[in-house]
Amino acid sequence: MDKIIIFDTTLRDGEQSPGASLNVYEKVEIAKQLERLNVDIIEAGFPISSPEQFEAVQRISDSVKIVVAALSRAKEIDIKTAYEAIKNAEKKRIHTFSSTSDFHILGKFGDEKYGRSLDEKRKTVLKMSYDAVAYAKTFCNDIEFSAEDAGRTDIVYLSEIIETAIDAGATTVNIPDTTGYTMPSEFGDMIAELKRRVKNISKAIISVHCHNDLGLAVANSISAIQNGARQVECTINGIGERAGNASLEEIVMALSVRKDLFNFKTNIVAKEIYNTSRIVSGFTGIIIQPNKAIVGENAFAHESGIHQDGMLKNRNTYEIMTPESVGAIKTKIVLGRHSGRHGLKARLLELGYNLTEEDVDKAYRRFIEIADKKKEVYDEDLRTLMGDEFFKSDGLYHIEYLQVNAGINLIPTATVRIKMKDEIIQESATGDGPIDAILNAIDRALNIKLKVEDYHVRSVTAGREAMGEVTIRIRNENNSYTGKGVSTDIIEASAKAYIQAINYYKNKIS
Ligand SMILES: [Zn+2]
Repeated sequence: MDKIIIFDTTLRDGEQSPGASLNVYEKVEIAKQLERLNVDIIEAGFPISSPEQFEAVQRISDSVKIVVAALSRAKEIDIKTAYEAIKNAEKKRIHTFSSTSDFHILGKFGDEKYGRSLDEKRKTVLKMSYDAVAYAKTFCNDIEFSAEDAGRTDIVYLSEIIETAIDAGATTVNIPDTTGYTMPSEFGDMIAELKRRVKNISKAIISVHCHNDLGLAVANSISAIQNGARQVECTINGIGERAGNASLEEIVMALSVRKDLFNFKTNIVAKEIYNTSRIVSGFTGIIIQPNKAIVGENAFAHESGIHQDGMLKNRNTYEIMTPESVGAIKTKIVLGRHSGRHGLKARLLELGYNLTEEDVDKAYRRFIEIADKKKEVYDEDLRTLMGDEFFKSDGLYHIEYLQVNAGINLIPTATVRIKMKDEIIQESATGDGPIDAILNAIDRALNIKLKVEDYHVRSVTAGREAMGEVTIRIRNENNSYTGKGVSTDIIEASAKAYIQAINYYKNKIS
């Protein structure tokens, strides 16, 4: 069986999803979980893009033993910075890229530096790519080269640039369908054609990186594998730029469920899929659609009577894989006030959260608050607790006090007291409803006005006492920031979520 290398880019491409905001701590936690899932390579970030990205890549390099890749444009300063960020990793890869399609070459590259005609520009890109790979090679041996927008690149030019990159020392050559434009048969043919045309192709591994703009990212990746690709770039829950990337869990399970058809294997520990999916969703704030394949809430739910009857007689009737195989086990374990610190720690560990003793104490205090309000605490409550403000509480502002009056024939009014270092600010405001009033009061207290782009409230578990999870996305010019808050009281959860988003925003601008 041929091995398919799983290159996870949740922390790089995935983190570019609109509204996804991960702090360094969360990135490291996700990286550790990806290691438990046993991906082959983690693309940890784009170090030149910001000091925060650099630090995250560095911290991840210190924390995991698997290959850590860092992205860089085909520029010396980018490549050097990428290497600086990963240099302490046990295994490291520099990933550099050039744009290769006519759309990109003509659209992005100026005449002065690249030449006037398409032909001249292509030659410049070719030389820059060679130089970038050769330069990267002076730092480490494992070099990946990507031809951005390969999906819309002329095959003759693409073959030439891939051959050049391999000549310069690239050990992996990546063929991205950056815009999610290609069809599965077309993309598969492209890989087969590259194998025929590129003379030195046997010296490198062919990789693919597919986007989901037409919902074909996974299909395109599989088609590429069938035609000779041996690395796939993918993300947990399929998150990423625009419509996202190929979903890791779908590719892995397709290869596994249909092993009768494919002679391929991956190193993925499938039982960690569900935990990984929930951790990524919790930290990024990107909710998983219920009908999402493999990891959606309904992925293994059987609704119709005929289906349920069939399932009771024989699970094979309507189930091609079991929920257990991907770790989506509905446990009956319920924690309560008396479960104790030890019980909580053990359960969190099973859910993929390996906390320090200090963090267990912090989690336990939050757990007791929740257990006091709702007697039974389920796995989903714990996951939500871990994904919400728990790891994000080091922000500038904290809510000290909150009061809201609302009702029929009453003008909704909110009063809030916010702590900022040693300063206390208190303000009141009215609004269309209690949530609007509280957001207005916070705006007034902090003297800001931000656009709320998205407001979402979700019940974490069933029942009257269920916790509400509020997600708020705010926008300021080109950037958006997502905050989350959890409480049995959705007003309180809304205020927490808003403050968290503001803390992110303030972190970025300070
Ligand atoms: Zn991408």
